[in-house]
Amino acid sequence: MRKFNFSMPTKIVFGQDVVKDAGESLALGKKALIVTGKTSARLSGALDDVLSVLPGEYVIFDEVENNPTGENCAQGARLAREEGCDYIIAIGGGSPLDAAKVMAVLAVNDKQPLELYGGWEHKALPIAAIPTTAGTGSEVTPYAVLTLHEEETKKGLGGPDLFPAVAYLDAKYTASLPLQTTIDTAVDALSHLVEGYLSNRATPASDWVALQGIALWGTALPALRQGELSLEAREDLLLASMLGGITIAQTGTTMVHALGYPLTYFHDYPHGRANGVLMASYLEYTRDKAPERVDMVLELLDQPSLQAFRDLMDELFADYVGKLHVPEEAIKAYAAKAAKTKNIAYTLGTPSAEELTKILKDNIL
Ligand code: NAP
Ligand code: FE
Repeated sequence: MRKFNFSMPTKIVFGQDVVKDAGESLALGKKALIVTGKTSARLSGALDDVLSVLPGEYVIFDEVENNPTGENCAQGARLAREEGCDYIIAIGGGSPLDAAKVMAVLAVNDKQPLELYGGWEHKALPIAAIPTTAGTGSEVTPYAVLTLHEEETKKGLGGPDLFPAVAYLDAKYTASLPLQTTIDTAVDALSHLVEGYLSNRATPASDWVALQGIALWGTALPALRQGELSLEAREDLLLASMLGGITIAQTGTTMVHALGYPLTYFHDYPHGRANGVLMASYLEYTRDKAPERVDMVLELLDQPSLQAFRDLMDELFADYVGKLHVPEEAIKAYAAKAAKTKNIAYTLGTPSAEELTKILKDNIL
């Protein structure tokens, strides 16, 4: 008997000029904290669009770092309290979107960021999320990922009130991305779709979403390979990324994300790239556990074999594959830490620390 639930409380508004078209309804309260990174909101044109229609007061916090820390989020939350903001507009890639979620909680809960891993009492401020990358899907997930120096890694936290109230998705905001960031983030989206489809928490409903997303991603792939992305291709990627977010909102992520975090924390690999260099080995590992599913992924991506998929990742990350040299002891430590995460519990076959070590060694030594 099948038994599952499917939760997607975020209102999704997708298409050209949706922010401007939202007009006054963009305001979810009286005073907004606009949260963004140093450049993305302005470069993408999203901030201009927001300010052109936003009624009421606002204050801007534009100091979100890539892979934000709790302290970075606490700064924004302090500003929200001082200014009496009652909702948040988050603009940017996954870093500002995730940071905005943590700020939304800290603004109304007297807690240290680390304490949030144990939960919180008061409902987070409502968020309108406007992605400027097509990758994380954070605009439709109940998660935020923080860099924890205390634990020398990145770690996700979650709660139903972290789903943004509304997500506005307009592909034109991703047009200012440099090509390599477009690739890195697109591969994060693929990783969510594939990990969700291959997760032991996959459900018939999450599968449907994941398969649509993988197919769309495949449609955009030729443009990604050529490095020439039309607005239509960018729209396919943004939609695929959103579907990836909806997928992992149900399933969570698996081994690829758990192993990718140390590559970001210790080696500065952007999040999607860290996933991308591991994904072919992940498919190889999963093949004997769910052969039809792995074959379906390859088919939807128009890849005739697993080796072709590996070559594809090598091509997209040509400047990076095999370039990371990490001592064996460090690799073992990364694998041992990853083995304890719930992402591994969600991975088909529940790989051991030794199996994870092998996957890292095969790709980054
Ligand atoms: P990001 O860290 O948000 O952004 C990467 C870089 O791209 C930044 O320098 C950013 O500039 C720039 N950028 C963003 N949009 C741009 C645009 N339109 N034009 C030009 N530059 C732009 O990257 P991301 O991959 O989207 O997010 C990664 C984070 O999300 C990681 O912390 C990851 O762990 C997390 N994540 C969260 C979830 C979730 O469900 N919540 C899922 C997967 C990953 P700025 O300096 O202005 O920001
Ligand atoms: Fe991710």
